[in-house]
Amino acid sequence: MKIGVLALQGAVQEHVVATRRALQELELSGEVLKVKTPAVLESVDALIIPGGESTVIGRLSQRNGLLDKIRELALEGNLAIMGTCAGMVLLAKEVDERRVGQVSQPLLRLMDIYVTRNAFGRQRESFETYLTIPAIGPEPFRAVFIRAPAVRKLLSDSVEVLARFQGLPVAVRQGRLLALSFHPELVEDTRIHKYFLVKIVRGE
Ligand code: GLN
Repeated sequence: MKIGVLALQGAVQEHVVATRRALQELELSGEVLKVKTPAVLESVDALIIPGGESTVIGRLSQRNGLLDKIRELALEGNLAIMGTCAGMVLLAKEVDERRVGQVSQPLLRLMDIYVTRNAFGRQRESFETYLTIPAIGPEPFRAVFIRAPAVRKLLSDSVEVLARFQGLPVAVRQGRLLALSFHPELVEDTRIHKYFLVKIVRGE
């Protein structure tokens, strides 16, 4: 299997490393590559959209045609996507920002979720916590939140909530799409990457 990491801005290398480690631990053969152009995107089975700045990643990908291509492949069912932090923002159908409210930025609008950017506010801009995520096993997962978004509203019944923090969904799945508020690529624990590879990309 070929896994791409969208490599326009943000925590790209960390996802490349974490995904390679997850493949190794699963004893699966696979290739992880950085995606910067629509041509490379067409060669992958799955895409990881990293954390960073959603406005920047959105604009850069719109400019070189990647945004439309990601959307097209995902709608055809030919691309599994995991979006973390800024990646969650980009996957959402609706987005606002905690302080400024309504925002206008390029989005993929693939998941039926309403997301608030910077949802946890100033005092808690960056923090770590342990989350219970039954889908990946009973052990709590160390979740790193950095100016993190959260799902404010589910826009359809087909969105499955995998984890909540302070009552808000922070890990959600809709078919072949997975969105996380936090940064699984920044911890040693590869269970989220493994879940994505096995359950979503391979569909087991
Ligand atoms: N606050 C950023 C945004 O809205 C996301 C932060 C992150 O990805 N760590 O795009």
